[in-house]
Amino acid sequence: MRPTALLAACACLLLAPVARAAEVDSEVRQGLLVFGHATPGETVRYDKRNLHVAPDGRFVFGVGRDAKGEAVLEVIAADGTQSRLRLPIAGGNWNIQRIDGLPPSKVTPNAEAMERIKAERTKIANARAVDSARNDWQAGLQWPAKGRISGVYGSQRILNGEPRQPHLGLDVAVPTGTPIAAAMAGVVTLAEPDLYFTGGTVIIDHGAGVQTLYAHLSRVDVKTGQMVKAGDVIALSGATGRVTGPHLHFGLAWYGLQLDPAPYLPGP
Ligand SMILES: [Zn+2]
Repeated sequence: MRPTALLAACACLLLAPVARAAEVDSEVRQGLLVFGHATPGETVRYDKRNLHVAPDGRFVFGVGRDAKGEAVLEVIAADGTQSRLRLPIAGGNWNIQRIDGLPPSKVTPNAEAMERIKAERTKIANARAVDSARNDWQAGLQWPAKGRISGVYGSQRILNGEPRQPHLGLDVAVPTGTPIAAAMAGVVTLAEPDLYFTGGTVIIDHGAGVQTLYAHLSRVDVKTGQMVKAGDVIALSGATGRVTGPHLHFGLAWYGLQLDPAPYLPGP
């Protein structure tokens, strides 16, 4: 830091009569996690939820791919004073991805498959709802596997010519049997050998609603409730679920909102 910058920072601290209220420290954009910090005793609310504030004051929340307008944080000071932080949401840049050659049953499931899909969605929603005060999310992500990026977050998808849900994760092209590592420490909240769309699937809770998801696995080596460290092998990659070939689908979420993991991964 330049000496002048240091002086400016010191002057600011000396002149500040009271601790500053909660602030956001990162970009507020569709598909991203937003990091901020609060002062001791402050409550920060977003989207009808009290955010977990870590012992160092940091908090985190997510902005969905299709969120529009403003993210509004309600800040309640220790003395009960309420204020609002209105944060304009910047738009993401999404491309269009056409995928052909998928089994038709995986693009337009029949009635029997729809029953199965509904039951599986409930399991996933339950894992997504896990609300813990763990602080593992502060560590930052590491690559669960390295390979060519074959699909990015946010793409509008046209499967076998039919418009479908956007792609809400990062695809890493790795051959079947590649060890998959936990991207951060946490607790496994879902470990399923074969879901309809995502095949072998693991979800890990990192606290404060931050979760990672690993899909299309050929083998799952962890159980629900198991604690893992960053870098622990949790599974082997594969080509299970709705795929045209082997790859890892890697997801990041804040509770039910699926976000883009790419900005939080180290360089390739
Ligand atoms: Zn994917």
